[in-house]
Amino acid sequence: MPLFGELTSPEIAQFMERNALVLLPIGQTEEHGNHLPLNADTVIAQSITRAAAEQLEDELPVLVMDAIWAGYSGVEVAKWPGTIRVRTRVMADYFFDIIHSLTEMGFRKIATVNGHGHHPAILELVAREIADATGVYIACVEAAKMAAPAVIEGRKSEPGGCIHGGEFETSLLLYLGARVQMDKAHSDDVFTYHSSNFPGDGFAGSKAAFWSTWGIQRSETGIYGDPTVASAEFGEKIFTTAVANLCDFLREFHSTEATCWD
Ligand SMILES: [Zn+2]
Repeated sequence: MPLFGELTSPEIAQFMERNALVLLPIGQTEEHGNHLPLNADTVIAQSITRAAAEQLEDELPVLVMDAIWAGYSGVEVAKWPGTIRVRTRVMADYFFDIIHSLTEMGFRKIATVNGHGHHPAILELVAREIADATGVYIACVEAAKMAAPAVIEGRKSEPGGCIHGGEFETSLLLYLGARVQMDKAHSDDVFTYHSSNFPGDGFAGSKAAFWSTWGIQRSETGIYGDPTVASAEFGEKIFTTAVANLCDFLREFHSTEATCWD
């Protein structure tokens, strides 16, 4: 699977002439409680992106960039060591400049694959700004949303168990062979604030408003969820679903012509 950073400039030009799909995995470095590594979001975004590219490379030209490893996290997770916090506006400019560089080379099919929950609004802003500036419509994929059908079907945790460092991320990292210390996982920090508008976590229903509820429930150890019910087997199911759904989306995205009207 071609990695953008391992190719030469003439090779990149050939991919550009073939209207290659360029995938940019986006992670973060932040605390994930006592049992998961800081790079959890980066590993998840990169693994799902690379697996999708491996499945697609015989059908269409595809390039995978190195994952972005530092981004924006809310102030809550800065209470625990290990969290890098890049300001929202810096991230918007950073995302914009990376993607704008790709459009200036001539790439037209660019998709971000994000594994970190505090990035979607920034990425959507950047997608608007890129379209306004260049006429290129990028796609912003949420890795977790691609896995959602399998999570809803197979989760063991109650709503609130799959937010930050919970069943979802822990299962994926167990499957991926990352450094997971299950003997240090606990269910003390399950997110319990539920209302009709805030059903507990992103897999438990849609929210009618944006309101970060992390300020309501004081996490003791830096996680928001229940990792104790996580398993590699569930991780495999949600990983496979995420990759399959991502491939379906990227096929359609790559084959559909979308430009701003002249
Ligand atoms: Zn995470």
